[in-house]
Amino acid sequence: MKINLSANAITVLEKRYLSKKGTKVVETPQDMFRRVAKNIAQVEKDFGGDKKTQKIMEDRFYDLMTSLDFLPNSPTLMNAGKELQQLAACFVLPVEDSMDSIFETIKNAALIHKSGGGTGFSFSRLRPTNDRVLSTGGIASGPISFMKVFNSATEVVKQGGTRRGANMAILKVDHPDILEFITSKQNNEELTNFNISVGLTEEFMDAVMDGAEYPLVNPRDNKVVEKVSARKVFNMIVESAHKNGEPGIVFLDRINDENPTPNYGEIESTNPCGEQPLLPYEACNLGSINLSNMVENGQINFEKLKKTVEISIRFLDNTLQASNYPLKKIQDMVLTNRKVGLGVMGFADCLIKLEIPYNSDKAINTAEKIMEFIQHHSKIYSQELAEQRGSFAGFDESVYPQKGIYMMRNATTTTIAPTGSISIIANASSGVEPLFAVCYKRNVLDNESLVEVHPLFEQIAKSRGFYSEELMEKIAQQGSVKGLKEVPEDIQKLFVTAHEIEPRRHIEIQSAFQRHTDNAVSKTVNFKAEATKEDIAEVFLESYKLKCKGVTVYRDGSRDAQVLTVGDND
Ligand code: UDP
Repeated sequence: MKINLSANAITVLEKRYLSKKGTKVVETPQDMFRRVAKNIAQVEKDFGGDKKTQKIMEDRFYDLMTSLDFLPNSPTLMNAGKELQQLAACFVLPVEDSMDSIFETIKNAALIHKSGGGTGFSFSRLRPTNDRVLSTGGIASGPISFMKVFNSATEVVKQGGTRRGANMAILKVDHPDILEFITSKQNNEELTNFNISVGLTEEFMDAVMDGAEYPLVNPRDNKVVEKVSARKVFNMIVESAHKNGEPGIVFLDRINDENPTPNYGEIESTNPCGEQPLLPYEACNLGSINLSNMVENGQINFEKLKKTVEISIRFLDNTLQASNYPLKKIQDMVLTNRKVGLGVMGFADCLIKLEIPYNSDKAINTAEKIMEFIQHHSKIYSQELAEQRGSFAGFDESVYPQKGIYMMRNATTTTIAPTGSISIIANASSGVEPLFAVCYKRNVLDNESLVEVHPLFEQIAKSRGFYSEELMEKIAQQGSVKGLKEVPEDIQKLFVTAHEIEPRRHIEIQSAFQRHTDNAVSKTVNFKAEATKEDIAEVFLESYKLKCKGVTVYRDGSRDAQVLTVGDND
């Protein structure tokens, strides 16, 4: 079967995914999907599947991917059926308050980066700067200094020739070094391999609402060091995020309230892009359904979506089994809880096909309806798998039996990933984000940039007779079609872009997806360059009120090198 790949998709595949001998590409995209399908289908034999079943599943997985209805996270595409065989994108490692633990984790992170995964850490357990070091009588250098060591280690480990390691650092808001952490990325040259997020607690948010103080606590002895104004710290986070998008925020208590396996510990960190909260030593395999492909004749084909959810969950459960893990401890944790994260991409494209503007109430209802459906069917299918394969090992101690659920194959089934690379392969809008621009240049893979006209826009412009090269050029300059007299008004509304959408609307969409997602939702609220600190503060508070698990903001032009650009400024 011919795969409908865009030129951009082929560029990305050749550069990073297809097998090479030296610098020569020795695999076609078909070969790649066949390699992955075969590898993931082999797991069927662990559960009594004979050769025939394996072949049937291989063909179904192959069709699933080559139709671009679903793609697994990049490490699965890159590594399945190859020597590395490391298939997960997301890991969290512990950082305890000792040299042994810190450097052990740096080593383990290096092994994970080499295998194509991203790592998240909480630095909240480290004693603060200038605290005592008992063994030497010296002075502690604090979490931020150690983050710099992690950063340097990441810099020197290129990910097995695939991609450079990505890290997340989280510091709890009551850590004495929190102010230094908040501003630690204000210089764009610092901590370049990290995203940072402040871990907010309910206690802190209450204090912000009440205009009260809250305690900073030394994690070494749990003693209160001082009390500070919650609003002052909140405003610092806002100011810093306004400057260059860092830090983001995560609501840790909320994440733990929904931790399905609390007996295995507290969740203190997420993966690098924030969508996957994990326990220390857990990893997670992600995969995303292309919603654009679920629309037929102007309607969502729910029967097709259901079938796609089922086969995707089976695929992801198989990947847990098929994967090699960089550490035995990680393997044990993964096979105990068997977390998978099925999500979506192409949501904005799906809305366009349904003729629903992203910034409308109908879009929120659609988000909710789709994700509720995916969540429901992913759970039912995970139960079906459990009947055949058994529940995840930690099931008895999980929250499920208390909810009257008797079987479940996976502790979590849903996560909404950014789909930064796989959405390019699928030629879909990324994750649940709105269109960034109708025509734009995309900086991918270090210094290369690709020019793109949105395929649905091109199609509509041609069929309605307003397509011209000059118009596309003009749109590429300004990104948006708003106010262009050449573009009919209904099309201007339908092709609304990120910067034209009220920040509140971004959060409402995120929240609609979050309501039906086990893990978290990757979402960046994109602001225009002229957005104020008050705008940022409002979005943070709104994300709290609407029960998101965290949020990232970005103000246009506030970092030198950004992934998406409009005009000639790259
Ligand atoms: N990730 C990474 N390095 C990267 C991009 C992503 O380690 O350069 C990891 C990270 O954990 C992130 C996850 O992959 O949160 C999912 O990102 P995305 O959906 O963009 O990945 P894709 O599968 O599209 O490559």
